[in-house]
This record gives sequence, structure tokens and C-alpha cells, in this order.
Amino acid sequence: MSDKPRVLSIANQKGGVGKTTTAINLGTALAAIGETVLIVDIDPQGNASTGLGVDRHGRDASTYDVLMGALTLAEAAQETAVPRLFLAPSTLDLLGVELEIAGSGDKAYRLRNAVSALPRAEHGPAFSYILVDCPPSLNLLTINAMAASHAVLVPMQCEFFALEGLSQILSTVERVRTGLNPDLSIQGIVLTMFDGRNKLSGQVVDDVRAHMGDKVYKTVIPRNVRISEAPSHGKPAILYDLKCAGSQAYLRLASEIIQRERTLRAA
Ligand code: ADP
Ligand code: MG
Repeated sequence: MSDKPRVLSIANQKGGVGKTTTAINLGTALAAIGETVLIVDIDPQGNASTGLGVDRHGRDASTYDVLMGALTLAEAAQETAVPRLFLAPSTLDLLGVELEIAGSGDKAYRLRNAVSALPRAEHGPAFSYILVDCPPSLNLLTINAMAASHAVLVPMQCEFFALEGLSQILSTVERVRTGLNPDLSIQGIVLTMFDGRNKLSGQVVDDVRAHMGDKVYKTVIPRNVRISEAPSHGKPAILYDLKCAGSQAYLRLASEIIQRERTLRAA
């Protein structure tokens, strides 16, 4: 295995589409099968941090410090309740980071440089996967995530306007690929909050598959109340209720993603 982590950005400029839920549960599923995973929370809202049980008081070292160059990513990473799953939490300070680093030549590469500086396996936590939970915006934070990533994973909610924002995120990925990171690809699109009783949900799935073909994962994440309850317990849904339909879907998604990673790595 390579001693460099695979870095995936979980991005969509729309809020509430399942980015954070996907980051937390995918991270947990990967850790459960033996990967060492770091979730990097770069959303000022810090929902991934809260959802993993790290409240505001537990965020002395944050991704803000990392982007500002005050701490290394290894210093900001902390353990979670899930074995092999680490978190670099976010704080509201991130709201100002764009202005603070706007004038610097490496402003788009702050996260990439922090990832490159991570110690290798023999010297501490070597992460096999890094998942970056992005804010609901295509701002400099998301650009930093994409510039640091091998691939982007796009969650899309099964709702009427789902396809509307897709071209925007695809063109942002394209811009980052041509301007900042020639290795960047789209890992895939995951359809979330699918409601089998709602005809529209099925239509959205068909539409997105018609547009994006194989890029859409076979696994569709159902709307599931256990998934929405889990964050208030500070736990991934997979720990909160392993058997629920949502957790099971995230486990299947993780195995699809690993399959794709093998193909991407081989390419
Ligand atoms: P984002 O990070 O894109 O803003 P979240 O992952 O925070 O989106 O999800 C938005 C809200 O929807 C949260 O309250 C979350 O708990 C809930 N949610 C996400 N996925 C599901 C699901 N599959 N079933 C039910 N609720 C979900
Ligand atoms: Mg979020």
C-alpha cells in the first residue's frame, strides 16, 4: 500500500444535501474495515465535528490553525470514539480565513501543503484516507479542499432542483483541474435522502443517472430517521444504529468507493 493518503473532497455548494452525513459515515465505514481515516472539517459550521462528539470546547486545535500555518494537520487531528477515525475539527474562525490568506501566493494550496507535510507510517498516524467535509459554497475553502484532493465526491439530495447546481460544481472541478490540480477527478455522485414513497425521488434518480451515467454510485442513501437522530448523540449513524437502512446503505457505498479507488489508483 502507498504511504500517501487518498484524499477525497466531499463537496456541493448546496447546503443540506448530505455532505457532512456522508463524510462521517463513510469515514466510519472505512475505519471499520481497517483503514486509518482523517476527517478534515473545513466548514465553519463545524457539523462534522459536533456529529463526531467534539463540541466547541474540544476544538483548541482546528483546521483554521492549519490553514493559517500555525499548526500541522497532525497536530490538529484528534481521536474520535471510532477506532482509527480521526478528526481535524473546525471553528467559526474559518469564516475569516478567506480574507486573511487572500493576499498570499499559496492561498489555494494551504491544505494541500498541510497534507503533504503529514508524517509517514513509521512516525505516527499515517492516514490511508482523508475526507474533507466542505462548506456549502464554492469558496476558497472548497478550492483548497479540491486542490488537495485526488477526487471529489458529490452528494446530491433526491429533490426537484437536484440537477440545477450540478453544472456549477462540475465546472468548478474542471477549473481546479486545469488551474491547480491536474490529478483531480470526480470519484462519484451519491444520491441521498431517497424516499421510495415519493414518485419524485425515483424520477430524480433516473434523471441524474441519465445525465451522469456511471459516475452515479449504484448505492442510493435512503431518507432514514436514525441517520438524522445520530448527530445529536455525537455519534456516526453506523455506531448509533448499525442495522438501520441508512447505515447499511453507507456501508455499501464505502465498498463501492473502495472499488473505484482501486481503479483510479491503477489508472
Ligand atoms: P450538508 O453537510 O450537505 O449540509 P448534512 O449531512 O448536514 O448536509 O444533512 C442535512 C440534514 O439532513 C441533517 O440534519 C442530517 O441529519 C439530515 N440527513 C442527511 N442525510 C439523511 C438521510 N439519509 N436521512 C435522513 N436525514 C438525513
Ligand atoms: Mg455540512
